[in-house]
Amino acid sequence: MDKLLNGVVEFRKKDFEDHRILFRNLKEEQKPHTLFIGCCDSRIVPALITKTLPGELFIIRNIANMVPPYRLADEYLATTSAIEYAVQALDVENIVVCGHSNCGGCGSLYDEPSKERLPHTSKWMELASAVKEKVEQQLPDHDPLAREWLTEQTNVVEQMKHLLTYPFIENKFKTGRLKIMGWYYIIETGEVFSYHKEENCFTLMN
Ligand code: ZN
Repeated sequence: MDKLLNGVVEFRKKDFEDHRILFRNLKEEQKPHTLFIGCCDSRIVPALITKTLPGELFIIRNIANMVPPYRLADEYLATTSAIEYAVQALDVENIVVCGHSNCGGCGSLYDEPSKERLPHTSKWMELASAVKEKVEQQLPDHDPLAREWLTEQTNVVEQMKHLLTYPFIENKFKTGRLKIMGWYYIIETGEVFSYHKEENCFTLMN
């Protein structure tokens, strides 16, 4: 607890002072350029890995960086309202869906016992049921690491597809007013791989 409290004081004394003008300019308005959809995982820090400052990223975090399809929008309002607000009210230019290595949410797709212990997580992860099916078709031998990475990457691609089920996103995307990117972040190396639809693969951003 002390670490948190000391951090708050330190922030105000040091970091806030370093960016005082920036914070003053943000007082009455935000104009983020990007909607960043990432996992809740404590090891993923969107502003850190993109070197962005306050005001640049509008961030949605949920387990396994999910985008509920538009037909289920009313059931998952915490996420879908934030998507709507970012695109319709803030008019962001980009959407990033960022998955990551060692994702507990993606891993839980294969962990049957967790369904009883974590019923809400399990229900949430039903949004990725198609991901599990696709991975099992491609990797019948269940090599754990290969399955993990393929699941996490397939999940990013799946959630990118879900974004296009939103009429207002599809419209802006098709007319070039909105870019959609899929990223895959490796925790232990800091590397970010970007999805390429044409080749259906992720390549290292350099
Ligand atoms: Zn995760």
